Amino acid sequence: METWMPETYDDAITQSRALFEDLTYTYPREWKAKADTRRLIGYLPIYIPREIIHALDMLPVGLFGAGDRLPVVRGDAFFQSYICHLPRTVIELALNGNLDDFDGFIFPSICDVIRNLSGIFRMKMGDRYVRYLDFPQNFNPEVGGTYYRSELERLIDDLSKLNGVVLTNSALNKAIHLYNRNRNLLQRLDSIRVDRPHVVSATDFYLIRRAGQILEVEECNRFWQRVIDLADSIVREPEDKIRVVVSGSFCEQPPLGLIKTIENAGCYIVEDDFQLGLNWFRHELPADTDDPLGVLVDAYLNHSPASSAVYTTEEARGKALLSQVQEQKADGVIFCAPSFCDPALLDRPALEQSMDQNHIKHFSFQYHENLGQFHVIKEQAGTFADMVKLWE
Ligand code: SF4
Repeated sequence: METWMPETYDDAITQSRALFEDLTYTYPREWKAKADTRRLIGYLPIYIPREIIHALDMLPVGLFGAGDRLPVVRGDAFFQSYICHLPRTVIELALNGNLDDFDGFIFPSICDVIRNLSGIFRMKMGDRYVRYLDFPQNFNPEVGGTYYRSELERLIDDLSKLNGVVLTNSALNKAIHLYNRNRNLLQRLDSIRVDRPHVVSATDFYLIRRAGQILEVEECNRFWQRVIDLADSIVREPEDKIRVVVSGSFCEQPPLGLIKTIENAGCYIVEDDFQLGLNWFRHELPADTDDPLGVLVDAYLNHSPASSAVYTTEEARGKALLSQVQEQKADGVIFCAPSFCDPALLDRPALEQSMDQNHIKHFSFQYHENLGQFHVIKEQAGTFADMVKLWE
């Protein structure tokens, strides 16, 4: 089994890329084989409380489709042509047997596509645990909090039946502590790419972060700490690029080539919402209470980010994006959303208006996860970078 203590920064990227490209999920399968009680739980974007899964001796594994690494043969038959691409490759993975070692799947409520995908999984993977997890959009603790807590309690009961492990407060507190550290390390990595984007490129950061969707949390923490140490000693000259925030890619992921194209066209990506769920909370959660489940409920109600998955006003969403631009000293925003993604595309006009009102330059385009041609986007991003430099 691979050790996650790379010798060099380049080794860390190579390891992360191999993990990203492995559609047979070797790491999760090997992890599971080490103990009888271990189980694999796949989850769809954006956010789920991974602490609960970890505390039950299970590995939460992010399922983000297969990008451009898997041709869709049967997946198209399940969905109409005018929806996004992600569910097609997820179904393809399932039908091809790539997910056979998984014991359960959680579909967080973000859109009708994910809801329908959970129904298809029920039909096609009915011998596994399949759960559509409906997150509250009422943030009153008496209403949304009570509801969310009961949903999580049901989730815990269901998962416990898969391996017989009973969730204890002590195990959940320990998991909260581990994920606090995990989020903290990710923020430290993020700070490196914000302060020195010429050292940790957007594609490197993407791959390193993506490892957090698969690695067991303690292993991931050691790995990310190692990457931070290695990145600190890298010396590279900055290039003449503008700094941009990328918004709208929280679910179906852009192909790596697209991220690289934006960078090569003259834009350092200093903030994005790829894989947003890994850093859902930006502060430390209490990890030594008598009610750790209440901690997770409270955190969701009060500290979820302003995203398309959480009900907030258009004004609040605009302000959140503006804060990102200001905090990361960005020169502009690239609205980069999957084709037919209702949550992202419905939010876009209000966000664009907010950027206009604050004189933040922006442009937009759509992609799908298996996009193979980037020259149009390269021209758009390159022109945008040149325009910003000229105006500044
Ligand atoms: S990409 Fe958008 S529309 Fe498609 S599943 Fe994700 S949130 Fe839903």
